[in-house]
Amino acid sequence: MSSQIQSKNKFFQSLKNQNTRTLDKVIHELHDDVFKKIDCLNCANCCKTTGPLWTAKDRDRVAKHLKVKTTEFENSYLKIDEEGDYVLQQLPCPFLENDNRCGIYKIRPKACAEYPHTKRPKQKQILHLTQINQSICPAVESIVDQMEFIFSKNAKKGLQKRLKR
Ligand code: SF4
Ligand code: SF4
Repeated sequence: MSSQIQSKNKFFQSLKNQNTRTLDKVIHELHDDVFKKIDCLNCANCCKTTGPLWTAKDRDRVAKHLKVKTTEFENSYLKIDEEGDYVLQQLPCPFLENDNRCGIYKIRPKACAEYPHTKRPKQKQILHLTQINQSICPAVESIVDQMEFIFSKNAKKGLQKRLKR
């Protein structure tokens, strides 16, 4: 294991000791800051390299939109993975258009709408996901880089200032 990966693992491990409220506040603020600067239409890496999990509601909704039966939709686009979840058969996602727009944006799966999940409450419970997503999503990479700075001992003052705002 490279020293960089070891250091990241150590950092994510250390985040488990942070106060839940503090962690949410810092990550949510960084999410808002980062997404002001990043345009997902110039990226679409999540749609190209990792698909969402499709809930029953997602499958029914999209099948209805495509005017096919849910089972027909599932057989055409989805498969069940080792964990029993419905996932895309192929990547990039077949609903991703050439200009990086989502062809089913208004009715896209809940997991797509929430990706990269850095605005969800109780971030401490999904740190494993954030650690994976930092290598998929440039926004998460930037959030994690800034968190490393904020939570480092040398930046205590920076954190206190941020929490007072
Ligand atoms: S990978 Fe991140 S930055 Fe890129 S499109 Fe997806 S959410 Fe947006
Ligand atoms: S459904 Fe839309 S948002 Fe979700 S992975 Fe496919 S193209 Fe991306």
